[in-house]
Amino acid sequence: MAGVYLHVPFCKQACHYCDFHFSTDTSLLTDVCKSMSAELVLQKEYLTEPVSTIYFGGGTPSLLTSSEIGHLIEKIQCLFKIAPDTEITLEANPDDLSKEKLKALRHSGINRLSIGIQSFNNDLLKFLNRVHDSSAAMQCLEDVREAGFDNISIDLIYAIPGLSENIWQETLLKALSFSPEHISSYALTIEERTVFGNWSKKGKLHPMEEESAARQFEMLMETLGGASYEHYEISNFCKPGYYSRHNSSYWKGAHYLGIGPSAHSYNGSTRQFNIRNNSAYLRAIQSGKIPSETEVLSEENKINEYILTTLRTQWGCDMSFLKDHLQDDIMSRKGDYLTLLERQGLVSIEENVVRLTRKGKLVADKIAEDLMMSV
Ligand code: SF4
Repeated sequence: MAGVYLHVPFCKQACHYCDFHFSTDTSLLTDVCKSMSAELVLQKEYLTEPVSTIYFGGGTPSLLTSSEIGHLIEKIQCLFKIAPDTEITLEANPDDLSKEKLKALRHSGINRLSIGIQSFNNDLLKFLNRVHDSSAAMQCLEDVREAGFDNISIDLIYAIPGLSENIWQETLLKALSFSPEHISSYALTIEERTVFGNWSKKGKLHPMEEESAARQFEMLMETLGGASYEHYEISNFCKPGYYSRHNSSYWKGAHYLGIGPSAHSYNGSTRQFNIRNNSAYLRAIQSGKIPSETEVLSEENKINEYILTTLRTQWGCDMSFLKDHLQDDIMSRKGDYLTLLERQGLVSIEENVVRLTRKGKLVADKIAEDLMMSV
């Protein structure tokens, strides 16, 4: 099964922490949307498997009208084989989801919403430069249910400078009170080309101490685990059965087609990167070209990607798969290290599958880095 990702590179305003590809000048929004439709035609041979997930990401795809979204979904349905029960997710910001829009989105075929709540605290929302406030976030979470959405995900950010443990606990409990099927939660990282990056360089902003950030991650695991959410990927939690099928398929190595400026595609042996420039993207598509670069993945790249992605999930890193499909005998490379990790309680190894323990999840990146091959 394969996926289609559509990147909508526009936002109402720039959040201070975000380094995704987007523009706050929305004058090209309609043209880019039309070009994405044209790109789907140009790329219609890319996937050979049926499509089982469609994901509108960004940027802020909820800036598109429901008829633009509906048109893109129909286009995909015309051009690709579509599996029954396809998961169709829209990333959305609370300020875009009026009751009318929600009704129209349901009608357009969207069956899952991933809502950028980030926090329920007004001071923090302002600090992050989000458009919405706490009451808009809460109203939106009521409205999505009223509109009939029964599969929603909430994004939350922790390790924000100024986020106390009390506020974080309140945020988690508030999120749980809406009973979302899925919660994604990320530690704030300070990226260079952002307002926070700039403040940090000038010494005006200091990232949260690692220990405090780790404590907030533990609170996240404790609170959501206590509410019976499965911690199925380092940053993702769900009620039983409500995994993000789209993201899970990335982590399981499924093929996907990325449409729109800066979108990536993957077909098992190469990765394709679309240009990160909206005007250049439009010009290329209008002249019938796909503005992308292609990277042929080396065997080491494939091994490293497999380790990096699978280790973060509850399904773990299957050493038999590595050996049989990627010719990597990780036990002969890293057997002593894995034994040490197991003794330290950082990983468990059962039936040749390495999984991070709760303690191991706190140092997931370091463990993955140590297990990867040097390229
Ligand atoms: S976090 Fe989302 S809404 Fe904010 S600038 Fe980035 S893409 Fe846009």
